[in-house]
Amino acid sequence: MIKQRTLKSAVKATGVGLHGGRKVNLTLRPAAPDTGIVFHRVDLNPPLDLPADPYSVCDTRMCSGLEKGGEKVGTVEHLMSALAGLGIDNLHVDVDAPEIPILDGSSGPFVFLLQSAGIEEQPKPKRFMRVKKAVEYREGDKWVRLEPYEGFRLDFSIVFNHPAIDSTATSVTVDFAEHSYVRDVARARTFGFMQDVEFMRANGLALGGSLDNAIVMDEYRVLNADGLRYADEFVKHKVLDAIGDLYLCRHPLLAAYSAHKAGHALNNQILRVLLEDASAWELVSFEQEAATPAAVAHQFAPVALAA
Ligand SMILES: [Zn+2]
Repeated sequence: MIKQRTLKSAVKATGVGLHGGRKVNLTLRPAAPDTGIVFHRVDLNPPLDLPADPYSVCDTRMCSGLEKGGEKVGTVEHLMSALAGLGIDNLHVDVDAPEIPILDGSSGPFVFLLQSAGIEEQPKPKRFMRVKKAVEYREGDKWVRLEPYEGFRLDFSIVFNHPAIDSTATSVTVDFAEHSYVRDVARARTFGFMQDVEFMRANGLALGGSLDNAIVMDEYRVLNADGLRYADEFVKHKVLDAIGDLYLCRHPLLAAYSAHKAGHALNNQILRVLLEDASAWELVSFEQEAATPAAVAHQFAPVALAA
């Protein structure tokens, strides 16, 4: 049986909020089966619970945030991506600020934290969202699509017309039947342009942004002294983001995702398009080993739990 997962024990981290620029305390705590991923704003009185939910997503300009009753928790996508990548279904996320800390701009530090706490299987079947028919969402020349696939594959392409990005691969396919989230995706950092950073700061955004938590480029080149972590780190980060954005549907997808120039907003729209068509998806679980698709068995193999 492919089982649900949570953490063995609670784990804490401290980091800087990308937009507010202030110190943020984060605690990840085990949760019972069928809880899902629930964010808790513990700095509010009373604390506010914000469950991962595609219909609570707000402010998709720069990052994916969840909103309820006028309060929000922003920059959830890299943590959600790590949770999807490690197959964690149930978790309480306590945070004392309106955003999750940016850490190094990738999901690598979240993967390290989660693996340090230890991952525990729970005696309930993991429930997958199986895409039964293709759905698509377009906005101008940007598009995103989900198609039936007995596994989880992502195809992404980007166009930036920037010399530093164009000198790397601008399209990638990640298929978890063969690729490893931890090895192939988790270390890809977010990226930005110096002129945008200056504009955002003037508007009170990205106050915590620095070369420590993003790839930053001027008009011609990457400014980070150490260069890139993957030869195709830019498009890989778009895949990392998509994995996190899609996991806001609360279940791992059985689907092939493909996207061109898409971002957080389109990733959220495609989930809404999918959910609104009841004939396009179903929830399934794999209780018999023989009935488990090979790609799913590989992606959620218990061996991946070893820290
Ligand atoms: Zn990102």
